Amino acid sequence: TPISTNLIDAVRTIPDYPKPGVMFRDITTLLGNARAFRRTVDELVQPWAGAKIDKVAGIEARGFIVGGAVAHQLSAGFVPIRKKGKLPHQTVRMAYALEYGQDEMEMHVDAVHAGERVLLVDDLIATGGTAEGAVKLLRQIGAIVEAACFIVDLPELGGAEKLRAMGVPVRTLMSFE
Ligand code: IMP
Repeated sequence: TPISTNLIDAVRTIPDYPKPGVMFRDITTLLGNARAFRRTVDELVQPWAGAKIDKVAGIEARGFIVGGAVAHQLSAGFVPIRKKGKLPHQTVRMAYALEYGQDEMEMHVDAVHAGERVLLVDDLIATGGTAEGAVKLLRQIGAIVEAACFIVDLPELGGAEKLRAMGVPVRTLMSFE
């Protein structure tokens, strides 16, 4: 694999996945490219380098990969936000919108304490339904959601705007129309 100087070139597009008409943005190629992965993490954390972030919350599953690296870089703790039924201890739960219908996500009740400053991380924001659910879940237990960051934005679907309207600053590294 050639080493990409441009992060967007390290993302692979799979047409008609998971269903016809969808252009799936596959970040596994970016993760597998050593320099692209390092640059991605460096660029995601850059605004919060001295910002006293207590916890990084990552959304299952690709948000765990990026979020773990971001947490390490910021010397912050890591908190997994998971699909319901996966976490072993007592949880708090939040419904969130899917393209068709809804689902629920969970976090351990003691994973974040009231007043802690949290950076939310996922690989991609589309409609923002997933990230909106995560922000509500974190706020429900009194966390301060400092910002949310994503490698990829699909701006036409309005997710980043939705989060900003909720008072959450959003950082993304690239957009696909
Ligand atoms: P949203 O809730 O509509 O913003 O969708 C975002 C969630 O769906 C994230 O957890 C993404 O990982 C996943 N997702 C949606 N579209 C894509 C895509 O094209 N590539 C990778 N993940 C996607």
